[in-house]
Amino acid sequence: MNRTWTVLELLNWAVPYLEKHGSSSPRLDAELLLARVLDCPRLGLYLRFDQPLDAAELAAFKDLIVARRGGMPVAYLLGEKEFWSLTFKVGPEVLVPRPETEHLVEAAIAFLEEEPERSARVIDIGTGCGNIILALAHHFRERKHLSWFGIDNRPEALALARENSRQLGLDHVVFRVSDLFAGFKPGLDAFELVLSNPPYIERAALAGLSPEVRREPAAALDGGPDGLDFYRRITVAARDFLEPGGGLLFEVGAEQAGAVKKILASSGYDAIAGRCDLAGHERVVSGRKV
Ligand code: GLN
Repeated sequence: MNRTWTVLELLNWAVPYLEKHGSSSPRLDAELLLARVLDCPRLGLYLRFDQPLDAAELAAFKDLIVARRGGMPVAYLLGEKEFWSLTFKVGPEVLVPRPETEHLVEAAIAFLEEEPERSARVIDIGTGCGNIILALAHHFRERKHLSWFGIDNRPEALALARENSRQLGLDHVVFRVSDLFAGFKPGLDAFELVLSNPPYIERAALAGLSPEVRREPAAALDGGPDGLDFYRRITVAARDFLEPGGGLLFEVGAEQAGAVKKILASSGYDAIAGRCDLAGHERVVSGRKV
């Protein structure tokens, strides 16, 4: 590429190129990657359509587009992802936060707002980069009577979660390496709210996921033979750690709400309910410990 390329010309080339290679959001991808190379906000590109790129910028953009074409998620290329209007550091060691998970944050806010003065301990199981618990801690940052815990059995995920808590000025959120509640003591440790977006893909379906999703850690996706292993384990384990009346809130896969409600019912939870996303799918299932 010896000729000069402007911002607009590069976008006009990269968008159809990424589309042809399977990206479902080629314009957004191309813009985010070009904005990273030029170190400007994405919308700033629209003010610089005629700006030519120098050779180093051009080479950097080309490398990113080639990696993206190979299925690397944009969030891993950028090292960050927006969730709940906050910026989270992410990498291949954690699931990329998804917009649909914001429904779980909304459900948790609604639960905690039922009794705004009550002190409550909230725990997020399988916290990954910490997006859920940190979004909540940020939303409720003035409420000093709420405390926040994020656990994950993978230390490399927690390292990122801790970096995110520092970056967001939310150092009071406690992150702990723990396989479910293994690091906690029944009777001593009790929570008003247990949250999780656990791995929920059926194991046999993993190989058929898009190349992009297959770049994400299997440990964050694999929900066992029927995808429901973690719902069963967490539902049973949480009974020993929830206060009476405490809430259990799950994100579930698009077709899993019915099965997860049954799991909660068979473990003796009550007030079992689902919450729909914008497409009308129940993506959050909740219950209360009796
Ligand atoms: N809690 C993180 C999220 O919802 C990671 C969940 C996971 O790894 N399954 O994005």
